[in-house]
Amino acid sequence: MNSLPFPLRRIPRESAETGSNVFPVAASFAGALTKSAGDRLDIPRYKAYSLTNFRDIPQMAGLPEALKFDIEVVGQVLPFKVNNFVLDQLIDWERVPEDPLFVLTFPQRAMLAPAHYDEIAALLKAGADKPRIKAAANRIQLELNPHPAGQLSHNVPSLEGEPLAGMQHKYRETVLFFPSQGQTCHAYCSFCFRWPQFVGLTELKFASREVDRLIDYLRSHPEVSDVLFTGGDPMVMSTSNLARYIEPLLEADLPGLRRIRIGTKALSYWPYRFLDEDGDGLMALFERITGSGRHLAVMAHFNHPRELEPEAVQRAIARMRQTGAVIRTQSPLLRHINDDPARWAEMWNRQVDLGCVPYYMFLSRDTGAHEYFSVPLVRAWEIYRQAYQRVSGLCRTVRGPSMSADPGKVQVLGTSEIGGEKVLQLRFLQGRNPDWVHRPFFAAYDESATWLNELKPAFGESRFFFEDNVGTA
Ligand SMILES: *Cc1c(COP(=O)(O)O)cnc(C)c1O
Ligand code: SF4
Repeated sequence: MNSLPFPLRRIPRESAETGSNVFPVAASFAGALTKSAGDRLDIPRYKAYSLTNFRDIPQMAGLPEALKFDIEVVGQVLPFKVNNFVLDQLIDWERVPEDPLFVLTFPQRAMLAPAHYDEIAALLKAGADKPRIKAAANRIQLELNPHPAGQLSHNVPSLEGEPLAGMQHKYRETVLFFPSQGQTCHAYCSFCFRWPQFVGLTELKFASREVDRLIDYLRSHPEVSDVLFTGGDPMVMSTSNLARYIEPLLEADLPGLRRIRIGTKALSYWPYRFLDEDGDGLMALFERITGSGRHLAVMAHFNHPRELEPEAVQRAIARMRQTGAVIRTQSPLLRHINDDPARWAEMWNRQVDLGCVPYYMFLSRDTGAHEYFSVPLVRAWEIYRQAYQRVSGLCRTVRGPSMSADPGKVQVLGTSEIGGEKVLQLRFLQGRNPDWVHRPFFAAYDESATWLNELKPAFGESRFFFEDNVGTA
């Protein structure tokens, strides 16, 4: 493929902004794909804002100083970066500070415990120097469970006795690969479980420059069918950098490798990544992957239906699909952002309209601002079920709500009463031990539990069946 026509019709803003249940935009896409080049979207220059310059954001001018101070306080501890696309096209400034896309990207006062907030606020007010503020922030960060589910210590594979930095192998079929240049994002989500690396707490211990080691590892592990490029966001990498990982992987011609997955939030935070000139090259790279007979799955993160509205994201999705890539979507369930069945139903509907496949609904991890975002398991299951009931079978490819915990991905199947005892029913969608997958198990009913480690086995048992094998959950 040489130059890349992505000739889509301009979508009238009104239709993209109706916010109604009927989503009129996608229907007109098929014809739009055949139009000739030259109808490129105006692509603005990427501009990032963080703690040092967020006061220059034009839309913030009218906001109260107290709110800006909160951002400054909380932003010392939790990651904060936003960009002009998020500001101009995603956030609804009329609804700030409650706006879900604002909450998604801007630090909020209630994300810190009051004592933590007060400590940083006092330092800022007293004009403390940077090292002092940083020391306090680091201490607080360490109290926020920065490495949930044994992320640093577990799952790092080794080859000939050498640990392989930048890789994780937890579930038999899939290896995670963290390319070193892909360990940041176009903007940061305030809920992100990878937050420690964005605030400098872990120095990219995950990242790898070495695709050769990955290839060697895959050669000796033919059971691995999928490689998932993840980050951060690998889509912050230039196409030539990404190609330096992907091309050797294709050329190695590994018989076991069937699928390449790329995790990304760029469709939401910077869809121009797929539409500009470097995006042309990226689409060509995607076509080389699919042309090699391998499946290319883009694991796209969308947290709110509004992220699917801008013309740029719709064009980017359509363009990617033309390469043969399949876009699968996932998101955590987040209080203040999407803890409402109608939002999920709308999100899945829009995704399917645009040709994406709903994949996972996650529970928000027990790290960072977890208390601010978490939804109790029982409530999460209700939201999932109510959303699921509202959509057609084509949207029901989604699975959840699921916790990515140390022993595996655990799905909450619901509540019931067995032999007079109220219980929660659960099962593994993925397990450290593949044999655990899809065995129903039971926990004592607990309306306020938000994570696996808060649950107790039902029927007076002392351990869950999987705990004999991994120690504590
Ligand atoms: C979710 C996940 C995967 C992929 O699991 P699938 O169910 O195949 O999508 C792989 N590795 C880890 C560590 C994961 O959390
Ligand atoms: S895009 Fe993904 S990795 Fe980046 S901040 Fe958001 S959740 Fe974290």
